[in-house]
Amino acid sequence: MTKDKAGSSVRERVSPAEWQARVDLAAAYRLFARFGWDDIIFTHISARVPGPEHHFLINPYGWLFEEITASSLVKVGLDGQKVTDSPEDINPAGFVIHSAIHASRADALCVMHAHSINGIAVSAQKDGLLPVSQQSLFALSSLAYHDYEGVALRDEEKPRLVRDLGDKVFLILRNHGLLTVGPSAADAFLAMYLLEAACAIQVRALTTHGELVLIPKPILDGALQQAKQVTRGLGGALAWPGLLRMLDRRYPGYDQ
Ligand SMILES: [Zn+2]
Ligand SMILES: [Zn+2]
Repeated sequence: MTKDKAGSSVRERVSPAEWQARVDLAAAYRLFARFGWDDIIFTHISARVPGPEHHFLINPYGWLFEEITASSLVKVGLDGQKVTDSPEDINPAGFVIHSAIHASRADALCVMHAHSINGIAVSAQKDGLLPVSQQSLFALSSLAYHDYEGVALRDEEKPRLVRDLGDKVFLILRNHGLLTVGPSAADAFLAMYLLEAACAIQVRALTTHGELVLIPKPILDGALQQAKQVTRGLGGALAWPGLLRMLDRRYPGYDQ
């Protein structure tokens, strides 16, 4: 466990609510590694620390996602500067996208950003995500697109990013990747799972070079209405405890 200069553990120094946010975020990082969405180390997941301060948790730059622990996460302000003593550095460029969304969407307590191969492949397709699977219907019910402007290092891009996301849950970053937001790591993760699965199915279906059957418009419209009810808002909390048990068996230690 990471010890500060005084020798106290991170867990002893933070509120129980912050510790829980750290455990869930560390678990999310390990799930990204497990599902192959981590781009080695070059993507990010951020979570807002519970409380009135606009403080956020993000990964220590350079750690593999399967190595990340609750204690290792770095607490930063909206400017991406560390707010507590930590021996770890963050990727300030990586926080540009996340800080823009956290600043504008109070409901986005967790922001997940993936460089998944299937997601990037669909992000490069002009027609974007197609209604070819049941999984795609969930994403299509709340999906936005943001055009590529180069590596997102500049604050100047933030207003366009925020405008494009609007009040949506799913965002396809053209030529770049996928992004989801949620009121918890569990919900943002399930959203990312559904979006990436929809992209993987689309990529595979397109390799057959046969004509695709699109879900008919009336069914699509009805399904979009139902999408939220079916899974009780996406229902990430239903799957999350089982995912944590899987981590406990295969990737133990995230909660340290
Ligand atoms: Zn990225
Ligand atoms: Zn990011």
